[in-house]
Amino acid sequence: MKTIGLLGGMSWESTLTYYRAINQGVKNALGGFHSAKIVLYSVDFGPIEKKMQAGDWAEVAAILSDAARRIQAAGADFLLICTNTMHNVAPKIEAAIDIPLLHIADATASVLVKDNIKSVGLLGTAFTMEQAFYKKRLTDLYGLQVLVPGEKDRQTVHKIIFEELCLGRIEPASKAAYLGIIDDLADRGAEAVILGCTEIGMLIQQEDTPVKLVDTTVIHAQEAVAYATIS
Ligand code: GLU
Repeated sequence: MKTIGLLGGMSWESTLTYYRAINQGVKNALGGFHSAKIVLYSVDFGPIEKKMQAGDWAEVAAILSDAARRIQAAGADFLLICTNTMHNVAPKIEAAIDIPLLHIADATASVLVKDNIKSVGLLGTAFTMEQAFYKKRLTDLYGLQVLVPGEKDRQTVHKIIFEELCLGRIEPASKAAYLGIIDDLADRGAEAVILGCTEIGMLIQQEDTPVKLVDTTVIHAQEAVAYATIS
């Protein structure tokens, strides 16, 4: 079994989800007392979040590249960045290490392509919903049409991520707001909606809506299990 490198802590709430899902996946795959071989480097999100909100992506890339090198040095065979947003600096992190990076958008897109989905809604931070690094990858490499909420709804989605979910707060009113936004995306033609932020699965689950949900945390974790256990 390969050793999985996790660059986590962004937020630690969602890294918990990764840790549990990966170990559960290895247990399902191999049975008995098997558990995942993991090197986890969990950053202090406080200063990184400030740099990110200030648009200082160069400094974010430097901090995360240093962490990725430490994960590699500790014996990981491949790396997961446990956040969608920080894939904004994935090319820089990839360039800093020799082990492969399992990109969260690739893992997500391969599930959508397998399900023959052509048009997909995307929920995530404003960075993920508005900048090219994520949407363009889905469009250019996988031919997906990506729909994002209107500006006011994007602000709502973003605010709930940083003021509630990343701090471990789950609010019923926020759940209702997300479900309304998911319905709008489906009404506009989205055949599925990507939960493109690793904390959204704490708020919304598939049983909450008839719209097909694609949870990036779950898919990324499953991809890591498959990569680690298939030799
Ligand atoms: N975990 C979040 C994501 O998947 C947001 C926190 C961050 O900015 O990394 O995008």
